[in-house]
Amino acid sequence: MYDILIIGGGLSGLISARLLALEGLSVAVIEKNVYPFHRVCGEYISNEVKPFLESIDCFPHALQPTSIDKLTVTAPSGFSLHAKLDMGAFGISRYAFDNFLKMRAEEAGATVVEGEQIGTVQQTEDGFICTSLSHQTYRGKLLIGAQGKRSLIDKQLQRSFIHQRSPYIGIKYHIRTTHPDDLIALHNFQDGYCGISKVENDTYCLCYLTTRENLRKYGSITKMEEAILYQNPFLKKLFTESEFLFQAPEVINEISFDAKSLSDQQVIFCGDAAGMIAPLCGNGMAMAIHSAKLLSENILLHKDTLDENKILKHYKKEWNATFKQRLWIGRTVQKLFGRNSTTEISLRILSYFPFLLRWIISKTHGDIIQ
Ligand SMILES: Cc1cc2nc3c(=O)[nH]c(=O)nc-3n(C[C@H](O)[C@H](O)[C@H](O)COP(=O)(O)OP(=O)(O)OC[C@H]3O[C@@H](n4cnc5c(N)ncnc54)[C@H](O)[C@@H]3O)c2cc1C
Repeated sequence: MYDILIIGGGLSGLISARLLALEGLSVAVIEKNVYPFHRVCGEYISNEVKPFLESIDCFPHALQPTSIDKLTVTAPSGFSLHAKLDMGAFGISRYAFDNFLKMRAEEAGATVVEGEQIGTVQQTEDGFICTSLSHQTYRGKLLIGAQGKRSLIDKQLQRSFIHQRSPYIGIKYHIRTTHPDDLIALHNFQDGYCGISKVENDTYCLCYLTTRENLRKYGSITKMEEAILYQNPFLKKLFTESEFLFQAPEVINEISFDAKSLSDQQVIFCGDAAGMIAPLCGNGMAMAIHSAKLLSENILLHKDTLDENKILKHYKKEWNATFKQRLWIGRTVQKLFGRNSTTEISLRILSYFPFLLRWIISKTHGDIIQ
């Protein structure tokens, strides 16, 4: 019987595990994949979490992340907008970063079980029993759902968003190319946008979000890229002149930005499982880390009793105050981009009113957390 069971060993699960284990709680993280592994993500992390990560010895200095402080956004026509990112960010692959955080969680005393997918969650008198698809059982007094944007568990818990299909898919490559180290570029195309920025080891992350309908229309990823992404001259250059390092791209589907509940059947959610911001805003990872901090602090306030209701009450209040407006603005901004005409108009307006772009950036990012 662990004090805390965590489903999912992404950023929110691993940071929670480290914070809680450091304070003497017995913690187990159950992750369906085996580290290190690639996942669809733009791999650009807002510096709002840098001091906090440093304070808990989780900033990956040794992996030599890239410093990023410039933004370029382009329309499908090639029209470009440039801005300085005041807070800045760092680029690191999830392959390296998640593995590094797994080691940090273990070093703090947490158990990380790899290659086990939780299929069912059952409440008992003294906590929870989670059963994996290979019939292993794990017991915990308190259960954190850090399973990301969409999981088997969401189905079993019958969470409301799971019944709605989402039109979005995400695709990612690692490439070698020529691109300024300190720049993140967001290139828009019909029904989607593609980010490019540098991670470690002279590698660049090329990751885009588009619709399932685009893929259906063209039949394959390559044909869709040639027909739609190549219309943006910057993307055509990137796709035709870079060295692609994966055998095949990483792909995910059913990416939903709808509002979610912070708890269901006494399971408390953090990270994307609690709410996901549009990748366009570039700070889902910072939010996942921040929500793990908020949840862990509230658990530690009630460390002796692990009183679920008290933990949840404060966590909900803080989570809403910290993220609710940001998620709403993220959803609204995402709607401006996507269609060729609205993207072009939005970018041209923003080029005349640079303070508006700075406002959007500041409203979709948080304050620096310590
Ligand atoms: C296309 C795209 C681009 C993005 N780009 C960026 C970006 O550049 N910058 C940024 O900050 N954010 C970006 N994001 C968002 C970011 O990836 C997420 O916000 C972040 O990964 C959330 O972390 P998490 O810990 O909540 O979930 P995740 O990192 O998704 O981790 C969840 C973990 O749970 C595991 N899991 C799921 N179900 C089970 C189960 N049943 N049993 C066991 N394990 C399970 C999964 O394998 C996974 O490892 C992007 C998202 C998308 C879709």
